[in-house]
Amino acid sequence: MKKILAFMAALCLLAAVLPSVDMKAAAKETGVKIVVDGEEVLYDGSVGKFSFNGKEVNIKKTPTYVFDDTAYINIKKIVLKALPDVTYSYSKKLGRIRVTRGNCSIEFYIDSPIIYKNGKAEYSRVAPKFIEQDGKAGNYYLPGRLVFETLGYSYTWDSDKKMSIVKETTATGKLYELHKSGVVLDNKVRTSEGSFNGSLKIKLPDGISKEDITITDDVYKNLICVSVRGNHTDFFESLKIKNKCENCVLQIRDEYRIEDDVTVLTIVTQTDKIGLCLLHKDEITDSTLTITFNKASDLYDKIIILDAGHGDTDPGTQNFGIDEKDCNLIIIKLVGKILEKEGIKVFYSRFDDTLIPLRDRAYLGGRLDADMFVSVHHNANNSPEKNGTSVYYSLNNPNVSRGGAVTSELMAGTIQADLLEALGTNDMNVLTTDFSVTKYNNVPAVLIELSFLSNPEECARSITDEFRVAAAQSIAQSILKLYQK
Ligand SMILES: [Zn+2]
Repeated sequence: MKKILAFMAALCLLAAVLPSVDMKAAAKETGVKIVVDGEEVLYDGSVGKFSFNGKEVNIKKTPTYVFDDTAYINIKKIVLKALPDVTYSYSKKLGRIRVTRGNCSIEFYIDSPIIYKNGKAEYSRVAPKFIEQDGKAGNYYLPGRLVFETLGYSYTWDSDKKMSIVKETTATGKLYELHKSGVVLDNKVRTSEGSFNGSLKIKLPDGISKEDITITDDVYKNLICVSVRGNHTDFFESLKIKNKCENCVLQIRDEYRIEDDVTVLTIVTQTDKIGLCLLHKDEITDSTLTITFNKASDLYDKIIILDAGHGDTDPGTQNFGIDEKDCNLIIIKLVGKILEKEGIKVFYSRFDDTLIPLRDRAYLGGRLDADMFVSVHHNANNSPEKNGTSVYYSLNNPNVSRGGAVTSELMAGTIQADLLEALGTNDMNVLTTDFSVTKYNNVPAVLIELSFLSNPEECARSITDEFRVAAAQSIAQSILKLYQK
């Protein structure tokens, strides 16, 4: 059996390597041969371009390559060609690549997952890649977004043009005074003492009250988004706030979103993924919004992580024109709203259409000292008759909540029973399959499969407001109940 398998694998490999019809056309179709970290690779992903402040920079000889949804860029080349105020240096002795701009810097160490953003260590999912092409001497390629955003630029990937678009930001920033222990520190937050607490004060336009403001934490992307009703871009920009690369608040941007009639201040923070999390608690008094940064558990009594399954290029199950990822996010947002009203701090693994690695979702529980972690999905099956609700937990997750009373098993049982009663769906049971988000979590965790989108009737029902509101209310009530245990 093994031999046959090996032979078949070899055949497949041969089929993948051998050019098929027209050799030239096939070569174009199947990709380019490059050497990545010493290994020859037939690269068939995007071969990307680069533009800076709207002008394309010619990088034809060393184009960008996309690995795991990250565009890798020959930064040295870009610096030489287009970025006079950026310095690129490579120390062979230290195995270190350093890119600096003003007081912003990013350092990579070859073969290390630890990077240094402005001198502060962080765990990074993306390490430098050494790429050789056309038999020429190779170069280190760095994750484009990470580098440019750390240096204070804006970075977007245009998937149609296959282009990394980098721009100087027109960010705002000065009247926002950064305090520590009540003392203004020259608009800088220092983290050298090893722990951090500071606050950011943002003056608000006249007539704006608490009701006009919503704040969401997007911890995965290190963003805090403050939405203020109405168009106040002139007001915020008149504050003449300069964007400085700080140790904590990297950047503040403002933007008016006409469709929602809100001005969104996006505060780009820096969280230390190794240990301390910088998180906020917000307060509004005297037309000033104060955002306090500290460890989550020092700021909030009750913390819940809500995880909407799938996202972006991973739609989850697709049925009747419905993507599971969208259904999951709608439910999660409804649950969050109810819990926030009850004074519970909610962190969302994603608040928009973003794909987050499963382990990173799971690690949020521990990073944020959460009490519970709840992931919402919708089910599917090849047989369209299958329908109903199930809740999963992992037997390999023995964690109990901060109070010591809530386990994953108790969560699963409570949530399942409440959902069946609220929705009247078929009982597909509490199950103990290991999913990454439940297994690798440091806090009690469950994964809910609300209903089967592959069942035509259940799918039609699952996308109604009534069903969604009932499901969200039920999940929220279960969580509130669990806090009483
Ligand atoms: Zn799913």
